[in-house]
Amino acid sequence: MIRLDKYLADMNIGTRSQVKQYLKKGMVTVNQQIETNPGRKIDQTSDVVSFQGEFVAYASHVYYMFHKPAGCVTATRDKRHKTVFDYLGEPRRKDLFPVGRLDLDTEGLLLITNDGSLCHELLSPVKHVPKTYYAKVSGMVMETDIRKFQSGIEIGERKPTEPAELVILNCGKVSEILLTITEGKFHQVKRMFEALGKKVVYLKRISMGGLFLDETLSPGEYRPLTEEEIKTLKTNEVAYADRLFTNLPPGYGRAADSTI
Ligand code: URA
Repeated sequence: MIRLDKYLADMNIGTRSQVKQYLKKGMVTVNQQIETNPGRKIDQTSDVVSFQGEFVAYASHVYYMFHKPAGCVTATRDKRHKTVFDYLGEPRRKDLFPVGRLDLDTEGLLLITNDGSLCHELLSPVKHVPKTYYAKVSGMVMETDIRKFQSGIEIGERKPTEPAELVILNCGKVSEILLTITEGKFHQVKRMFEALGKKVVYLKRISMGGLFLDETLSPGEYRPLTEEEIKTLKTNEVAYADRLFTNLPPGYGRAADSTI
């Protein structure tokens, strides 16, 4: 059971204070009766709540895909930079959080949810959920690097990194690569390249588990996940490596000579 004003605010009908105004104006019904009391207890499984005549279903868990732009911090509050929540705007649920962190200058896929157990599944180090990054790296990334990433790299932690899969899209003064890692150490991708004497100059996360960044979202935009995407994330039913390396996401062509 939850309060009616929370129910409506959770479903983005308005902020709590806007919702209170709507209630006062008689715009909300519960089981076909106008309800003005914001504290009315609602049973999410059986009560029928409507706003301006439209049924408002209650979703206890919500999931958004956010295309994080550079310059946005993955935190709830920050004095200097815009946060993820500045992009989500109001009204929005107050129980949302980003799943994991991306550096200030990293762009790309960030899942935002209020589902703590899914978050735990995706971030737990024992689950080895793959995350794929597209990067521009200053310096030539070569075939020999593929094996180094596979064998694990010393980045100053207790142990070398877990095996990571490197795909070279383009080798040049600035190389383009895809790197799939199954851990989430601080600045991990940048530190792995640094350990090989190379510098990541642009970094974008394009997938997490079976969830791929929707490239129709511009940086700063977000959308709810589809039912299919939620299912994929929850069941881990995509054979990650197969999907990644046989079907690269749209727009990521692999250099002909970059296979092992
Ligand atoms: N690795 C990094 O170095 N930075 C990120 O933001 C994510 C992974």
